[in-house]
Amino acid sequence: MFSRLYIHIPFCLEKCGYCAFVSCKPLKGELENYHTLLLKEMQLASGNYQPAEPLDSIYFGGGTPSLLLPEQVAQIIAVASKQFSLSPAVEITLEANPGTVDEGRLRAFRTAGVNRLSLGIQTFDGNLLRCLGRVHDAAQARQAFRDARRAGFDNIGLDLIHGLPGQSLSQWHSDLREAIRLAPEHISVYGLTVEEGTPFSLRYPEESPDIPDDDQSAEMFEAADSVLPTAGYEHYEIANYARNGHRSRHNSGYWRRDGYLGVGVAAHSFLRKGYGFRFSNYETVEEYRAALAGGCLPHQDQNDLSLEDAMAEFMFLGLRLFDGISSDEFEREFDLPLRSVYGSVIDELTRIALLQCDQGVLRLTRRGLLLSNQVFARFLP
Ligand code: SF4
Repeated sequence: MFSRLYIHIPFCLEKCGYCAFVSCKPLKGELENYHTLLLKEMQLASGNYQPAEPLDSIYFGGGTPSLLLPEQVAQIIAVASKQFSLSPAVEITLEANPGTVDEGRLRAFRTAGVNRLSLGIQTFDGNLLRCLGRVHDAAQARQAFRDARRAGFDNIGLDLIHGLPGQSLSQWHSDLREAIRLAPEHISVYGLTVEEGTPFSLRYPEESPDIPDDDQSAEMFEAADSVLPTAGYEHYEIANYARNGHRSRHNSGYWRRDGYLGVGVAAHSFLRKGYGFRFSNYETVEEYRAALAGGCLPHQDQNDLSLEDAMAEFMFLGLRLFDGISSDEFEREFDLPLRSVYGSVIDELTRIALLQCDQGVLRLTRRGLLLSNQVFARFLP
């Protein structure tokens, strides 16, 4: 049914101006008690769902998971181990905001069992960090990285964002250079999207001259795609680069449609049974807590996938990976030849140079990478 566990921590010290994630400032006492709700949910969930094999990865995402106390993280891992069992080589990632950690705290997370750290640095430019509303400055970002190394983390990922308001190509190059100098094992590179309902959507309405346009964003994407591989990072997914052997196992599982159980406020799950089904948890702490207090799983909806849904997901998630999609794998999964379902779409996307097929493996072209959303839309049912 699943081999991965996602744990959502919906609290942040401040709301960043561009953020569309489910996160809020904790009310008094919320942060202190939230982990007990997670323990309860795992206990309830384990009565309904069990992994097919011991868990291969746990991911603490948010929000700001580094606001949890290390002993709370240790308790969550212990209960996950008891309820679901963990593989001996389990990857346990914790997202950390550089403004919330120091060497001692990071060492305690490492001791608690976290073996991979994902640092949300976003940019090393102080003015841009202020513009984003981040709670950390560039010096704290660098310090958090050094502290993580000293605390014993040998698997660290950095997140960067390009296409920031007023950001020039040379500023972006400078961010890339600085990230490479730190030598993390993994670098994620996201393009800023101004989401409706965020303070940024009011500050930077559509076509705002302050936001780099599509051509400038494409240049920044291509800069990363050129600079990072030269520095030894494999570009293995549209937004992700890794040193040899350091791809994110947890996130790679999403793109391969591995089953995962999500716990916590607003967490999403995908369980493999039939063509798979997805469900999500309540999005407010109050509703989430009330469901658990009543002895119920805090699910707000469920969507059972049809064959068409599952095949479409297989295509648009799998094409994100540079390994591509093999027609044999598709046939093993769905008992149908790939071309019998998507032959005409593949031919058309190949003709306009967005897809390429090499020995039965389908991949995005360089052009397809830049226009990936248009490619993915063609596989929707
Ligand atoms: S730290 Fe992350 S989750 Fe929290 S408000 Fe900022 S972008 Fe959103």
